[in-house]
Amino acid sequence: MNMREFTPFKNKIWLSSPTMHGEELQYMKEAYDTNWMSTVGANINEVERLTAEMVGCKYAVALSCGTAALHLAMKIAGVKPGAKVFASDTTFSATVNPIVYEGGVPVFIDTEYDTWNMDPAALEKAFELYPDVRVVVVAHLYGTPGKIDEIRAICDRYGAAIVEDAAESLGATYKGKMTGNFGTVGVCSFNGNKIITGSAGGCLLTDDIEVANKVRKWSTQSRENAPWYQHEEAGYNYRMSNVIAGVVRGQYPHLEEHIAQKKAIYERYRKGFQDLPVKMNPMDLENSEPNYWLSCLLIEPEAMCKQVRGEQEALYIAEHGKSCPTEILETLAKCNAEGRPIWKPMHMQPIYRMNGFVTREGDGRAKTNAYIAGGAVGKDGKPLDVGMDIFHRGLCLPSDNKMTAEEQEKVIEIVRSCFE
Ligand SMILES: *Cc1c(COP(=O)(O)O)cnc(C)c1O
Repeated sequence: MNMREFTPFKNKIWLSSPTMHGEELQYMKEAYDTNWMSTVGANINEVERLTAEMVGCKYAVALSCGTAALHLAMKIAGVKPGAKVFASDTTFSATVNPIVYEGGVPVFIDTEYDTWNMDPAALEKAFELYPDVRVVVVAHLYGTPGKIDEIRAICDRYGAAIVEDAAESLGATYKGKMTGNFGTVGVCSFNGNKIITGSAGGCLLTDDIEVANKVRKWSTQSRENAPWYQHEEAGYNYRMSNVIAGVVRGQYPHLEEHIAQKKAIYERYRKGFQDLPVKMNPMDLENSEPNYWLSCLLIEPEAMCKQVRGEQEALYIAEHGKSCPTEILETLAKCNAEGRPIWKPMHMQPIYRMNGFVTREGDGRAKTNAYIAGGAVGKDGKPLDVGMDIFHRGLCLPSDNKMTAEEQEKVIEIVRSCFE
């Protein structure tokens, strides 16, 4: 319960805002000066080269955004109208909306505590329930790689393709290999809040030249090789702009530095919260090195005050020695600092309320939502709906590169005050 008054930050502390360095402007200006102000040019070529080199895949196709890359990935994976597609549940909606663009029907796979990503045990159950599914969309949340080997082994057994959404995890590795490199196709994003940004933009990642060529063609209105506008299939206007590519190009030399800054932020939080009844999001993993994109907190169940969330608003009852995400986020906001709730799981979203949801014990929709929301536990004694539990008890902390150590110490003090 927060009883302390803090003077608000003079400059807002952001969750994760673009961090520019100067080279970006130089490459943008180069596009301007040479008049390559469209969707062709040296910056685009360089972004494709740098991205493929960094990720370690053969081809990167530069597109207008990560969502566009995911959409074309769905087409490559062969998602057809009515086909069920398995997808991460605790993720940003852009992971799953492209399934719907192609008429597919997402079935959500519950989250695990180990990585806050797709639970392989739930994926296994999902294939038992829906053995015909052939596409699985896996996201690496907040920069922490999921259990790629386990997921891959299950998908191989069922002959399913993996679309890897590495939008939040650029630069994160699993067993020494970059995320974005494990799926049948991968996707990265240069949205404004990501680890590096072009203000917008994304890439589709593949080792298959035919896939790369197809995606490049679809993204430029599917023009056939003819003297006039000739079309044999539907196209899209999804190509990256050469101006945007200039920003991305200027950011690449700073990717490692951004990761180091994010890591320092994460470590400072961890130290600052050591004696609080909270855990940080899982970054200390045997098989992977995350990119530390966002630092998050998970409040221990016994330290949660009562918190109720409807579809649009949240209420809580303040209690000494306890807190909740709503209290912490409201207290931070009052101090001019931006946190955010954990991404609300897709199976809890009104738009997807009719879609399947599978937990480690099977069909999550067989249990009523009230039963699950009431804190139902599985055979292992842990909450049955892990995504819902992390959403209920977790929050994203201000994780901006440009936040100073002093500013972060104050953020830590503000959060600590909520548990007094
Ligand atoms: C940001 C994000 C996307 C979408 O990327 P855009 O470039 O913004 O379209 C997709 N998936 C996840 C998990 C993201 O965080």
